Amino acid sequence: MLKGKTAIITGSTSGIGLAIATVLAEAGCNLVLNGFSDQNTIKNIQESMQNKFGVNTFYSSADMTKPSEIELMIADTLKHFNTLDVLVNNAGIQYVAPVEEFPDNKWDDIIGINLSASFHTIKHALPQMKKQNAGRIINIASAHGLVASTGKAAYVAAKHGLVGLTKVVALENAQLNITCNSICPGWVLTPLVEQQIKNNAANHKISIEEATRTLIAEKQPSLRFVKDIDIGQLVLFLCSDAALSITGTHVSIDGGWTAQ
Ligand code: NAD
Repeated sequence: MLKGKTAIITGSTSGIGLAIATVLAEAGCNLVLNGFSDQNTIKNIQESMQNKFGVNTFYSSADMTKPSEIELMIADTLKHFNTLDVLVNNAGIQYVAPVEEFPDNKWDDIIGINLSASFHTIKHALPQMKKQNAGRIINIASAHGLVASTGKAAYVAAKHGLVGLTKVVALENAQLNITCNSICPGWVLTPLVEQQIKNNAANHKISIEEATRTLIAEKQPSLRFVKDIDIGQLVLFLCSDAALSITGTHVSIDGGWTAQ
């Protein structure tokens, strides 16, 4: 379905981003991978995508807190593939503390990576998508883009902001074949959530198993994690022709979290 097309997926060395990259590669899409990891892991991911799916990959080490590196990532993508069809803004981090104890640098990093980076990637990707009169921009927000939780001031603010940015970009490009949507997942078992479970277990002096059960039960009525690969399939659908009229909205994939 995406043969010969190019997708940038930020934060695709791990978790949800890696799952999205895998699904898009399976559909024939060439990939720009991004995120932090050791060289071996990155090489293995690239080789596995190339060997399993026959797609080309390019790795950009752009740090999503640095607008100049983001601009370079888009320029390198065009140098390498000459086209940019799909942009998935996925890189994200988390930090949990009450507002009055929230470290300033953590606030800046979360707003930078989880929100401002998407402004910069979109800003530099749009001229090429306009030239092609086609494009798909998909922002990985969160249930926390729609509702709040205690201790997550920066994350909730960033994800609400990302849902808002999505709407503006969709409106500005509504008459072109460019759509912009956000996906709002509930809990997915990735390193980002594993760290929160570990912290909760330590803070409440409970086992990892109990901390996992408590975390899920508090928010997610399905009582099971969302599968990362299912988010990849949702991205793939939003890239399809059938999704051309879906723009400026969010799609929840949260086991009922935000229905409550
Ligand atoms: P993860 O920690 O497994 O992956 C995060 C990725 O972002 C990694 O590849 C990491 O290297 C990259 N990254 C971090 N800082 C970066 C930076 N400065 N520059 C470039 N890359 C950077 O986390 P995940 O759970 O897969 O999260 C992916 C996205 O999904 C995030 O935006 C997160 O907020 C969102 N999300 C996650 C969940 C969940 O339950 N896991 C739920 C809702 C939304």
